Formats: sequence, structure tokens, C-alpha cells
Amino acid sequence: MYHSARLFTRLYTFSNKTKDLDTAIQLFKRLQKNYKTHSLADDALYRIGEIYYKYKKDPAQAYLELIKLDRQFPSGDMRAKAKKMKDTLSILLRKKNNKQKKLADQKKTGLIKVRKLRHWSTSNYTRVVIDLDGPIKYDFHVLKADKNHKKPQRLYLDLKHTVITSQAKKEIIIKDGLLQRARAGQYNKNTVRVVLDMDRIGEWTPFHLYEPFRIVVDVKKITKKSDKNKRTYIKPKSPVDFKRNANSDQKQNISLRQLFGLKVERIVIDPGHGGKDPGCSIKNGRFKEKDIVLNLAKALKKKIEKETKCKVFLTRNKDVYLSLEKRTAIANIKKADLFISLHVNAHTNKRVSGIETYFLDMAVDERSVWVAARENAISGKTLSGLRNIINDLVLNNKFYESSQLAHAVQEGMISQIKINHRNIKDLGVKQAPFYVLIGAQMPSILVEIGFLTNSTEMKRLVNKKYQARLIKGICKGIKEYVECNNQDFIGG
Ligand SMILES: [Zn+2]
Repeated sequence: MYHSARLFTRLYTFSNKTKDLDTAIQLFKRLQKNYKTHSLADDALYRIGEIYYKYKKDPAQAYLELIKLDRQFPSGDMRAKAKKMKDTLSILLRKKNNKQKKLADQKKTGLIKVRKLRHWSTSNYTRVVIDLDGPIKYDFHVLKADKNHKKPQRLYLDLKHTVITSQAKKEIIIKDGLLQRARAGQYNKNTVRVVLDMDRIGEWTPFHLYEPFRIVVDVKKITKKSDKNKRTYIKPKSPVDFKRNANSDQKQNISLRQLFGLKVERIVIDPGHGGKDPGCSIKNGRFKEKDIVLNLAKALKKKIEKETKCKVFLTRNKDVYLSLEKRTAIANIKKADLFISLHVNAHTNKRVSGIETYFLDMAVDERSVWVAARENAISGKTLSGLRNIINDLVLNNKFYESSQLAHAVQEGMISQIKINHRNIKDLGVKQAPFYVLIGAQMPSILVEIGFLTNSTEMKRLVNKKYQARLIKGICKGIKEYVECNNQDFIGG
């Protein structure tokens, strides 16, 4: 019974299904209840504590189980181990308590603070970000220009149950031909109003991101060209459908591409993480995701510029921190035709390996949720709450082209790596709600080039030759996508 419970615990690290953990707990409990005097009875209790701590992320319950162990097996051989875990847990719980106290204080004053306004802008596109202390509800309104009072068209957001800080009061003068300025003020006792004065009528999309909570407003100039390009299409059921179309029905595929008729001239590559955010890391931080992807991005830029006519920009070319919303803003400002975010994967199971490529949508499987939560630096729970905003945004987010690009790049990488490493795992193209892809106005994908937690893949990822193969593969994928989109494209 003990061993089968251990097996179910291990199984969880492959399946990620909580029902496997629950089965393990049930088995441990049954053992401990029915065979009280067996030498494994206290081990079973210890393991229950371990499951709550390590996998269920419930330190309070874990602590409780370990107290039971103390009481029921005062002379058991698991006491030393249990004490060690209890000490770790009590530190953790104290921290958690402090955090909750802080939240309770916030609730007492009732109002959430509006911390500051940030923005990035050009004459065609502006992104304004409102930073807050916690999640809130907000309304979005448009006011027509008032010629009598010389007032321009205005967009405003009413942030419910909020109070303004002095830093947020500062007005931002933008005057980029699209927005004149952004300003925030205390509209009434518990509402802060953020107003965007517009020079010209634009398209706007407000959405919010979590942990920390912030509201993002994208304003875009409406050009005649974008009017013409406006199209409606029925969202296919799955990316597999695209792929099937691309392979089996060449005619339909070409006509779709002609319909979209987009040129690719500028590409923004985004090396994930950076600065204070290392991404995933192992060996006491000797290998960090932020460094691997930065090196790869620099080499990829060189390769693409050598082999195509495209101009490539990096969101960062050194070890600096960039917020996720700034990365997409850079792509929008650079008027990129493609956006590619590079990342390294991680898994609690060291045996998991392979390459996968994502585009923006709600995640369809549990592991994609987990990957997105990790890359967004938020919890899986918060992520599932994103469903509403994602559904709207996906429609604006070049869903079809992104899926095509994802398939081309994934196939490019796998075909190149396969030449030297036949055992490479093709984890395929997947969908998940990545913050860094939200609001991108061009086809955009996120590539997970391999698992740092897998020792074979880790060695490969820091190997120059392997990196060159990956770059060749990504470049091949981009070229394939570009060639299909640019009729006058000359490949290298
Ligand atoms: Zn990452």
C-alpha cells in the first residue's frame, strides 16, 4: 500500500492530475489507520505532509499533518525529518500570515491605490498602463469632442473603489498625433478617473493583467489600409485544422493567404525574462533562461538578417528587466510584422524534454496552463480567470497567421534538430494565454526551445553547435512563413 501510494505521488509529476495525489493520500491514510503499529505508519503520515507541502502547495494543511505525526508517533523514526519540514513550513506560514494581514489592512481602508500611469507611444499606436495595488472593477467610456468648449474626443476609465496616489496624479503629455495626454484624478470619494485626450479617433482596447494588477489601454490609429484589411473569419476549432488545410488543400490555403496578403519586412525577437527575473535556472543559477535566450536571440537576429531581407529588432540586447506589457508595446511601436518570444521550459519531472511552440488562446490542456502561469509569473488559478478577456483579445490577435507561424517555426526547429538528434521530442504547437502575446498587433508566437530541468537538453541548450541548429531551424520556419506571404521575397 505504501509503495503504491508512492507510485501515485510520482505519477502526479507526469500527469499533473490532482486525482493522483488524492489517491496517494487516501492510500497513505488507510495504511496509517489500519496498520497503526507498522513501521511505515509514521512514514505514511510524513508523506501526506510532504504531498500537501510540495505538490498541493498547502503549507497549513501540511503543518497540521506533521503535528499529527508528532502526537501519534512520539518515538517514531520520522520525527527528525518531520521537524525539519515543520520548521520550513512555519517560516513559510509566518510570511503568508503577514501578507494576509497587509491585505486585511488594505480592506479596512477599503480603497485600492492607483499607483502610477506608464505609456509607450508613436503616432500610430499608444499603450497606457495603469498600475494598481489590487484587482478592481472598471468602466470604459468615450466622450465625443466638444467644439464649444474646445475639448477633444476623450476616452475615460472609472476605476471603482480606488484612491489616487501623488505619483499617479502626474499628467502625462503624449502629443504624438494620436493621444494628447493621459491624466488621472480622484473623481469622487471612491472613484479614480483616468482620462485620455485624443487628437484623432482611434481604435482602442482595454484589458487587464494580474499579479500585480494593471489595466492596459491600447489605442491605435485607424488607417484606410487597416480598414481594407479588416475581415471576419470563423475561428477554426483547433490549430490542427489549419495544419490539415495547409497540407491537404493547397488551393484553399493559397487563397486564404492571398486574402490576408501580408508582407513580412520587420521582425521583433523577444528574449524572455532578464535583469531581476532570471526565468528558470538550475545548478545554483549557473545556467539561467534569461542568458540562454538572449544569446540565442542575438545570433538569430544575425542569421535572419543575413538570409532574408527582413529587419530584426530585439526587445532587449542586454541583461535588463522588461515588463511583459512593454515587450508587446515595443513590437507594436516598431510596427513589426512578426513577434517571436524565446523561452526555456521547466518541469518538476526531470525526464520531460522537447520543443514546443505556442500562440495566444485559452489553454486547452493542463500543462499549457502551467507553462503559461510560469511565464506570466502568476498562479494557475489567476490564469483561469483570464478567460473573459482572452476571448475578446484573440479575435484581434491575428489568430490564423499566428497559428501558421507557430507551425512553420516548430516544424523548422524539429526538422533541423532531428538531423543530429533523432530522439528529440516534438511537443507540437499549443495554445495558452501568455501575457507577452496579448495585444500584439502582428502574428506572434512563444517558443519553448527545450527543458533546462532535463540534463540532456540542458547540456544541449548551452552548446554553441546545438544553438546554431536551433537558430537554423527557427530561421527556416520564419522563411517558410515569409515565403508564403511575400511573393517577391528572395530567400537565402
Ligand atoms: Zn520563460
